Amino acid sequence: MKINNIEEINALVGDSERILLTTHTNPDGDAIGSSLGLYHFLKDMGKAVSVLVPNKYPGFISWLPGDDHILVYESEPKRAQQLISEAQLVFCLDYNAIHRSGSLQDVLKVSSVPRIMIDHHPEPVAADFTYLISTTETSSTSELICEFILQMKNGPELSRDIATCLFVGIMTDTGSFSFACNRPRTFEVTAVLMKTGIDVEYIHRRVYDTFSEDRLRLLGYSLSEKLVVKREFATAYIALSRNELEQFNYRVGDTEGIVNYALSIEGINMAVLLTERKGRIRLSFRSKGDFSVNELAREHFNGGGHRNAAGGDVYDTLRKAVLQLEDLLPTYKDALLNVRED
Ligand code: 5GP
Ligand code: MN
Repeated sequence: MKINNIEEINALVGDSERILLTTHTNPDGDAIGSSLGLYHFLKDMGKAVSVLVPNKYPGFISWLPGDDHILVYESEPKRAQQLISEAQLVFCLDYNAIHRSGSLQDVLKVSSVPRIMIDHHPEPVAADFTYLISTTETSSTSELICEFILQMKNGPELSRDIATCLFVGIMTDTGSFSFACNRPRTFEVTAVLMKTGIDVEYIHRRVYDTFSEDRLRLLGYSLSEKLVVKREFATAYIALSRNELEQFNYRVGDTEGIVNYALSIEGINMAVLLTERKGRIRLSFRSKGDFSVNELAREHFNGGGHRNAAGGDVYDTLRKAVLQLEDLLPTYKDALLNVRED
């Protein structure tokens, strides 16, 4: 395993004809944006490139240039296995451990070709990869891909298609430049992308102003009927059952962003969205300042993520998951009430 050995990585890319790009399970805007951005760049280099994601992703990120070429493992496992067996090099984008690739992990593990991880999550599992480009201060994997492209000597130009994809990744992972964006470099990279002529206002509308009526009503219902505020623990949560999701004709991605509203209350330092899925309860955590939901999710909910945004699962009923969360709050009371903003 070698960290940030950029010359060797460049040589490896140069020597590989068939390159496979993969993302974490439940791909988000950064997973799709970073992989399609790199896809266009490697295509422009003349490579045979494929993008393979473990499972389906929401409609608000399925319009990017190159989206038609994304293969979903769970929809076409045979074709996906063929691609993996033919690849000479695999990129692992926006995930820090092979198990985060969900349904892809078993087929990826048996492949013997080099694996290059490019990611911005803390505590990468180094043994899972041949090379790592890993930082935690970067807004997004898309920002890292832009840096990767900029330092590639004699590479193709940064095209408008590349820039559109990478901009979506940076925009979605920073909540439209409202968190994880305190470094000037994020804005410098964004400016480089904008100089290709992308229409950032249009991109913003395509991602954020394309709710279905059901999705908007689910958001309204969650906030007016389901929000629980525990001021004594500076915590707010929303728990949605399968039944409730079905009432609003739930589609993948429809609960995206709900948790941020719970965190937007003054004096609330942690917000949690619990949703009942097939065979598990999904928890989505957000926090302010130095309270680490990454640690909380790792220690208690089989998950992880970033300091201020993390996810996890409980393999029990929704009621039990809520109880488990409530039971933990007294342990974290001091930390939650004394969050330091930095
Ligand atoms: P979200 O709440 O938006 O699903 O996830 C927030 C952040 O936590 C994302 O950056 C995501 O990569 C990370 N994350 C979500 N679920 C998990 C998980 O189960 N395990 C780990 N390690 N990270 C997760
Ligand atoms: Mn990301």
